[in-house]
Amino acid sequence: MENFLNPIEPPKIVKSWIDNEESHGSGMELPVFYPATGNQVSILVEDAYKDVDKAVMSARNAFDKSSWRKQSVEKRIEILENCRKLILDNLDELARLECLATGLIFREIKGFHLQRAAYNFRFFAQYISQAHGERFDNTEGYITLVNREPAGVIGLIAPWNAPMALATMKIAAAIAFGNCAVLKPSEQTPFSLVKLVTLLSQVLPPGVLNLVNGRGPITGSCLVSHPGVDRISFTGGTVTGRSVMEHAGKQLTPCSLELGGKSANIIFASADYQRALDGALIGIYSNNGQQCLAGSRILVEQTIFDQFVEEFVERTKNIVVGDPLDDNTEIGPIASKQHLERILSFADVAQHDGDKILVGGRRFSKYQNGYFLEPTAVLAKSNKSRACQEEIFGPFASFISFKSEDEAIAIANDTEFGLVSYVWSDHMPTIMNVSEAMRSGVVWINTPMMRELRAPFGGFKNSGVAREGGYSCEQFYTEEKTVSLPKSPLNLKKFGGGK
Ligand code: NAD
Repeated sequence: MENFLNPIEPPKIVKSWIDNEESHGSGMELPVFYPATGNQVSILVEDAYKDVDKAVMSARNAFDKSSWRKQSVEKRIEILENCRKLILDNLDELARLECLATGLIFREIKGFHLQRAAYNFRFFAQYISQAHGERFDNTEGYITLVNREPAGVIGLIAPWNAPMALATMKIAAAIAFGNCAVLKPSEQTPFSLVKLVTLLSQVLPPGVLNLVNGRGPITGSCLVSHPGVDRISFTGGTVTGRSVMEHAGKQLTPCSLELGGKSANIIFASADYQRALDGALIGIYSNNGQQCLAGSRILVEQTIFDQFVEEFVERTKNIVVGDPLDDNTEIGPIASKQHLERILSFADVAQHDGDKILVGGRRFSKYQNGYFLEPTAVLAKSNKSRACQEEIFGPFASFISFKSEDEAIAIANDTEFGLVSYVWSDHMPTIMNVSEAMRSGVVWINTPMMRELRAPFGGFKNSGVAREGGYSCEQFYTEEKTVSLPKSPLNLKKFGGGK
């Protein structure tokens, strides 16, 4: 029986936010759906080039003419703390809006995503309080100072899988370092970010943070190609990331790209078995399975393989799939109909490639209208299977066995991606050897996932370009300027001054 309530009454029409005012785009009207029911719940008005231009010019003016970038660090810290407070004061509404568009579990949005979103502002407030520059003295009597200045106008492009947690990392970093920004949320999941930007306008001067809505190839590509944008911070798929970099490259606009993954979760017989099993389930099924850092290829040492797979499958069958508002739910709906169909197509692909479906692979029969999927696991014929090579981005795990450390390393690295790797073992030489051998930007040992904001996060290979995190963000969102001067007046050669 399907008896889902809407988490919240959304705005009938989703508009944009430019210069601290609501703005009505001049592009198409696009439907927005609630993934749990499949019902259309709102209409989003797309921003065309002239709307994006207005948003970029608003940010440009705020950057070039207003005092935002010259604001004292103390004042900026105070404003960032106020941004944090606005999120915490509006936690319930923001969580409901995010749930409505994404189908993510309300409890997790409120308890984790939004706590992280609020913390992102505190983190960058604390970070800039420690900011320091460099000074070099040389024997020729010169002092050279290296200053970091805000980069300018930043285009921020966010995906749909964790809108608040991911976009606030970009917003907080961009404005903390004195930049102005234009944010484009995913066209599928605009509600929470539109609400956030509206709230933040209570404490941010006009133009510092603008928001445009619309599809990637329309609104997104206008933003990326706009000559008034100085940096692009993008999180999304690898194919899109390539196109973003191509367009930005025409203006030589630097890009930070946080892209897809097909991460290996390597489980050695020397691991704490129970923790590794719990971790493997969290690694692939949390966030409705839709996360870049999912441990989607589960590599298990042959001696424990059969037992591990059997217990994983049993646990998977018991996962509670259902209403994202229900406290007992463990996996909610997939974010969109197209995405559900794409994930389902991998069940056919897997069978075609000779993989065996161990569990799932079908729509969840209890709910026919929403985008529900049975959590799925397949036994891969080899790592060459498409289910092991392509990012499925859903609750869909592929199992492969290995006999030795070297084989595990070879399989783990045999992918175009390199975002994260998970290693489960209590044997220190194995941990050290494997973590060193992983071609990925992040390695998690004996833990499903953790994000230390002071450390860089990002991918090797096709999983990204540049990194996010404290110092990495400072580098990306600022320009370095070198200023040299002599300590005392120089005795300069006088051109044309005679002997
Ligand atoms: P997507 O690439 O389809 O879209 C991401 C954003 O880019 C959206 O706002 C979209 O509208 C916009 N976009 C699309 N085409 C564009 C274009 N031509 N120019 C400019 N903007 C464009 O990704 P998605 O489906 O929203 O998100 C899922 C993907 O994001 C997965 O591949 C996932 O791995 C990745 N992701 C990566 C990280 C990370 O930190 N590495 C985090 C979350 C998600």
